Amino acid sequence: MYSCRSFVSAAGHCTSLGTSSWAAPGEVTEAVKVAIDGGYRHFDCAYFYHNESEVGAGIQCKIREGAVRREDLFIVSKLWCTCHKKSLVKTACSGSLKALKLDYLDLYLIHWPTGFQAGEKDLPLDHSGLAIPSDTDFLDTWEAMEDLVIAGLVKAIGVSNFNHEQLERLLNKPNLRFKPVTNQIECHPYLTQEKLISFCQSRDVSVTAYRPLGGSSQGVHLMDDPMIQTIAQKYGKSAAQILIRFQIQRNVIVIPKSTTPARILENIQVFDFELSEQDVEDILSLNRNLRLATFPIAVNHKDYPFSIEY
Ligand code: NAP
Repeated sequence: MYSCRSFVSAAGHCTSLGTSSWAAPGEVTEAVKVAIDGGYRHFDCAYFYHNESEVGAGIQCKIREGAVRREDLFIVSKLWCTCHKKSLVKTACSGSLKALKLDYLDLYLIHWPTGFQAGEKDLPLDHSGLAIPSDTDFLDTWEAMEDLVIAGLVKAIGVSNFNHEQLERLLNKPNLRFKPVTNQIECHPYLTQEKLISFCQSRDVSVTAYRPLGGSSQGVHLMDDPMIQTIAQKYGKSAAQILIRFQIQRNVIVIPKSTTPARILENIQVFDFELSEQDVEDILSLNRNLRLATFPIAVNHKDYPFSIEY
């Protein structure tokens, strides 16, 4: 199993591409190809993004060309909320593997701690628009995740969007066979997550920062923040590069998403400079606990993760 440190190293810091996207057909495949040629090796995927076959096409194309070998890549996918029932986990994982055209994943995450009613719909909703929960417990789901490691379908397992109590509960599970290697959480200068990061790292669980650039909507323009702009000018870098480098210096894995070739290449040019300690402190001071991925349909769920401070 990975330790926190070896996982951070295996996941390759920021040679990582997020793939959640409402892109036009073919765009994600092209983005993956550009990314592999540009040096990316870590791809963050999920059933819920409904584009794993496009990601897989890009990966296969580059493997066929000889540009990269499977073993050089670090491919992540995630178990969706409607598949938390133990009997559904292996089928869900196999579905992602098939779409990605792979025979194993490097990492498989429980996407959210909240289990939803199983069925055709990814988001089964009640009459008031709230997600219909399943009667599953994520500790049971975890046992099925562990079985995937034993079966050789995944090399490592982890979680996403877990708060510290949920993570603690998992780490304290009797007969735990495999620890989660990472907790993938929303993290950027407006939501610095210092307490949760420190908790995870103290338990040897690495942290992966999603939405590191502040995403693309919801009226938040993190990249235009005056302080980020000033720091960017000082280093002769873009705002995105500052936001990515900020996470790397906190020992946090970071998965910026882009389908724009120039930006994909820009976002990996972050290993030739270092932010001063003062700049990191200044960026941390921008925190306003602003969560963008609030998952409002799950607010009443017993495992909704954002009802406590961290
Ligand atoms: P993000 O990476 O913070 O932001 C993506 C947005 O930034 C896109 O609109 C992209 O535009 C733009 N962008 C990228 N590079 C840029 C640059 N250099 N300059 C200017 N704009 C740039 O947000 P995200 O996609 O929400 O998060 C990243 C990844 O995290 C996702 O793709 C997914 O893999 C993962 N994620 C996980 C969860 C979870 O629940 N576990 C939730 C959300 C996201 P273009 O694409 O048009 O270039």
